[in-house]
Amino acid sequence: MSTNQKGTTSRDVDIPASALMSNEKLRRIRIDELSDGYYEADLTGNLIIANRSLCNIFGCGDLGAISGDKYFRRMDENNMTRLREAFHFVVEEGEPVPAVECQIVRFGGDLRSVEFSVALLRGRNNEPIGFRGIVRDVTERWRAEALLSQRFDLLSVLQQVDVELNQTLALDSVLSVALNAALLLSSAEAGFIGLIERDYVRLARSVGAFTTQWMALDTGIIARVIHNQRGELVPDVTGDADYVPDIPTTRAEIAIPLISHGKIVGVLNLETTSSEHFTTQIFEFVQVLSARVASAIENARLYETLQVRLDELGTLYTQVSNLEALKTDMIRVAAHDLRSPLAIVGSYIELLSEDLAPQLDDAHRMYVDAIRQAVVRMTQMTTDILSLERMHEQRDTTLARVQLSSLLEHSINEHIGEIRQRRQEINLFIDPAVVYGDSTELYEAISNLIGNAIKYTPENGKIEAHLHPDGDQTMLEIVDTGFGIPADDQTQLFQPFYRVKTSETYAIDGTGLGLYLVKKIIERHGGKVHFRSEYGKGSTFGFCLPLAKAPENSEPTES
Ligand code: ADP
Repeated sequence: MSTNQKGTTSRDVDIPASALMSNEKLRRIRIDELSDGYYEADLTGNLIIANRSLCNIFGCGDLGAISGDKYFRRMDENNMTRLREAFHFVVEEGEPVPAVECQIVRFGGDLRSVEFSVALLRGRNNEPIGFRGIVRDVTERWRAEALLSQRFDLLSVLQQVDVELNQTLALDSVLSVALNAALLLSSAEAGFIGLIERDYVRLARSVGAFTTQWMALDTGIIARVIHNQRGELVPDVTGDADYVPDIPTTRAEIAIPLISHGKIVGVLNLETTSSEHFTTQIFEFVQVLSARVASAIENARLYETLQVRLDELGTLYTQVSNLEALKTDMIRVAAHDLRSPLAIVGSYIELLSEDLAPQLDDAHRMYVDAIRQAVVRMTQMTTDILSLERMHEQRDTTLARVQLSSLLEHSINEHIGEIRQRRQEINLFIDPAVVYGDSTELYEAISNLIGNAIKYTPENGKIEAHLHPDGDQTMLEIVDTGFGIPADDQTQLFQPFYRVKTSETYAIDGTGLGLYLVKKIIERHGGKVHFRSEYGKGSTFGFCLPLAKAPENSEPTES
């Protein structure tokens, strides 16, 4: 091994004569002018020539400090082995190797990243006599690359967090995803996400030995950050007058307010044991993360509120439905149970009025009539209520071909006593019409219209019943010369319980359910109701229904 430690410059290093070219002086001057480091080593790897730039890279004024094998001592075992392997490879294979990247400890004590290129140095007879190469300080490039790769890593974490935050609306998951990401991004040992609740910050999620769960908003770095609405990187908490110690080993801290739509919802806090640990780059990334976390927290909270409201609405809806069902049941039971006592009262009043007829004076007869009318009225009410309930139950209608003309004639026949009693005139204009439907319901609808025409037409008035085809429909209309309906009241007809009270009609009994029932029945059959009315002149109420197609087989026809 050659030690060559005499001189302090490359020109002073002891070079074997065989390795030097004839114009050696000139060559060495040129080498010294190189901005990169240059070396020549013998076959054992010992440095025999080096220039000033190499000396600068190693941080020594004296080239003797790195000559021979001394420069190996500035590297660790691993780096030294890799460089030696490169020398070995070049000799064995006779081919160049890629530059070897090493870390060296300079004489000043700081670390440098350097690149050694290794080429074979040959003697006069082309025999290998050593190595030479350029040594380049790549510390800055390495640092830039490391920063770039760290930035890339941080960006991927942010992207991943975005995906995860978008996947959940549960506050717990949002907090846990957010805090884990912040700890990962910053390599902090401890941290928490605090949510503002009245005058305190509550530690909603934390990692680390925090002893307090509630923080007041008037002292400490957290309070300051929230108050100023600005994130802070505190490199050394021990030098911060506002710092309120919790974890005793904490040195550096990042605290960022979580602001969504201009409103502070909480704070993200990260702590580490080594001061100067958090770089400005990390701080910036955590700030970007915080903005996303804040809006995710707000979304999750809105979602929670929405869920609560929905649950409340659900409960309310169940209560209302239960009440509605109870009301319906009570009305049905009341209407149903009233029917038989009413029938009893009705039949006894008839018996009484017949049996006692000889003894009754005019006043008694008036009382009996009043009772009879009241019974009729109450019976009509129970009938309407029960029909209405039947409509609301939406039970299956019994469908068959129905002769509408027969239903109409049948209903008029049923009312003929009343018509005569009121000395009204009735005229029929009826074409045969078959529809598809439930004959009981359709009969009820027709009877309601005829009953109304009789009821709301004064004595000696005229009533007409029309039934004519109208395209693929049939149109039924009951026309009367009755009291008519004032224009203002016409918009509300067909509403349940709506009754028009004019001077002519206020004393007429009714429930206000008849027209509503007619509308329901006709619409259930795919038809439409209509009316025209002029106050003081009369009204026309009617409906259209689709005509049934000609029977293909022997379907039953009801009438
Ligand atoms: P009700 O006859 O039991 O009061 P309806 O629902 O059958 O209930 O009718 C609602 C209101 O429409 C009646 O109170 C009445 O004022 C008005 N009405 C219905 N048919 C006629 C008609 N043919 N002529 C005048 N008014 C009518």
